[in-house]
Amino acid sequence: MSILVVGSVAFDSVETPFGRVEEVLGGSATYFSTSASYFAGVSLVAVVGEDFPAEHVEGLKKRGIDLEGLKKVPGKTFRWKGRYDYDLNQAHTLETNLNVFSSFDPVIPERYRELPYVFLANIDPELQLKVLEQVAKPRLVACDTMNFWIEGKPEALRKLLRRIEVFVINEAEARELAGESSLVKAARQIMKDGPRILIIKRGEYGALMFSEKSIFSAPAYPLENIFDPTGAGDSFAGGLMGYIANTGNLGEDNIRRAIIFGSVMASFNVEAFSLSRLSSLSLDEIRSRYAEFKRLTHFEDI
Ligand code: AMP
Repeated sequence: MSILVVGSVAFDSVETPFGRVEEVLGGSATYFSTSASYFAGVSLVAVVGEDFPAEHVEGLKKRGIDLEGLKKVPGKTFRWKGRYDYDLNQAHTLETNLNVFSSFDPVIPERYRELPYVFLANIDPELQLKVLEQVAKPRLVACDTMNFWIEGKPEALRKLLRRIEVFVINEAEARELAGESSLVKAARQIMKDGPRILIIKRGEYGALMFSEKSIFSAPAYPLENIFDPTGAGDSFAGGLMGYIANTGNLGEDNIRRAIIFGSVMASFNVEAFSLSRLSSLSLDEIRSRYAEFKRLTHFEDI
């Protein structure tokens, strides 16, 4: 089963303590769709400028991603510049240039409108709402956001949250959105008039899932070398939604497994800059890291 994703396709300039890259391929929808493409069909809606090279389009096509919804318009592609210090969990945004995104009016191609799974990757919540107005009844709608929009468009974001089932957000942003430092209180507050499932990403500490019934805690894979955390959140969401779409099972036990697949994909992504690791994985590598996750969290009762 296929997933519709709407989000950013970008040029990122990133600095970490281990190196820097300028204007490499990035964007929330790019990371999401590359990650999800190992599990399910993905149809992407985004906009790029005239400066977006054919080789990037080819790279996405090679992963089998449907690009009818990727529009090229006059102007420059979205650009994001960020820095990470030794605490790789915290991205510091140095510059955000929306460029072609500032006048983007997403039009969902007719053949995407009935897709059963929808992921609204990190973009302006007003655009995320516009997408929801154009789709027929999806089985599952999930979304992500970031501090830029929590601070810039809080009303639109609250309106959006009332209309989605699964909300994926990082730890600092969950606290900021709820105005609470306790994560449990923040989760309850965010879920009050909104998502049925809340997944809080905690970088190297893993992820927490809150539902009405329970809390599930997943570790992150203990990696020796993390080069660049950019896109970890989106590749997590790609693995999560990809596995759900692949299995068609919305039960809580299956969502727990999907969270582990999300963590697997995020762990590969941070091993290299841009999409170089994420775009060249084998299914065997994914399966064997999933098995390692299982061993990592297994313990015997007495
Ligand atoms: P993450 O998975 O949270 O690390 O997201 C990283 C990606 O988000 C980068 O590749 C950026 O291009 C993209 N990004 C950063 N800021 C924004 C924004 N305000 N709106 C949409 N996408 C963004």
